[in-house]
Amino acid sequence: MRLILLGAPGAGKGTVAKQLTALDGSVQISTGDILRGAVQAGTELGRKAQEYMKRGDLVPDELILGIMEKRLQEPDCAKGFLLDGFPRTIPQAEALKGLLAKLGIRLDAAVNLDVPRDVILDRLTTRRTCSNPKCQEIYNVKSKPPKKDGVCDKCGSPVVQREDETEEAINKRLDTYNEKTAPLTGFYEREGLLLNVSSTSSDEVVAAIRKHIGI
Ligand code: ADP
Ligand code: ZN
Repeated sequence: MRLILLGAPGAGKGTVAKQLTALDGSVQISTGDILRGAVQAGTELGRKAQEYMKRGDLVPDELILGIMEKRLQEPDCAKGFLLDGFPRTIPQAEALKGLLAKLGIRLDAAVNLDVPRDVILDRLTTRRTCSNPKCQEIYNVKSKPPKKDGVCDKCGSPVVQREDETEEAINKRLDTYNEKTAPLTGFYEREGLLLNVSSTSSDEVVAAIRKHIGI
């Protein structure tokens, strides 16, 4: 399947993407994971992105577009892909449209995960992430704690609170989302691609997507 996942930070894009990739071998492409990996590896991209990310601001479009143009042409995308965290602005959506046309790729849908702000805030303040850039498994201190406190079940690395998951940065990310990314639902509605799903259960979200695209 070829999908865009839209939704505020904490709406559950990553969780839904993991469940969907298990169905047909399509790959999850998370620009946030790619950028955090680059920051930890200390690459030039990471150095350029770091300050924006810490503040909860968006990284400049040209950096993201460069990453995505390469990523979408890698062989593992042939079976399909789920875009998680991209596009984030109208210019990114326009650029993606051009890129997909150039590559001869059609999307199945742009899925908007519509989750109330109080649920989002609760999820983000209790969220913890594996610090290993190759893993980045997500935990939650209330609903999904690691088996051993502070240690990733999958890879044994420390599980930490992300630098941009302080209350101040979270509020900034939500404001940025509402201002720059929320308008994308209108964009994809006009493109005839929008599927709006308002459920806080990832199983229900996955079922709605499967029904919509017929798999
Ligand atoms: P969130 O949980 O806020 O959705 P992500 O993991 O998707 O977080 O992204 C973390 C940070 O990486 C963002 O706050 C932003 O600084 C940067 N980022 C990720 N994707 C993009 C993008 N498509 N455009 C610009 N910045 C991005
Ligand atoms: Zn891990």
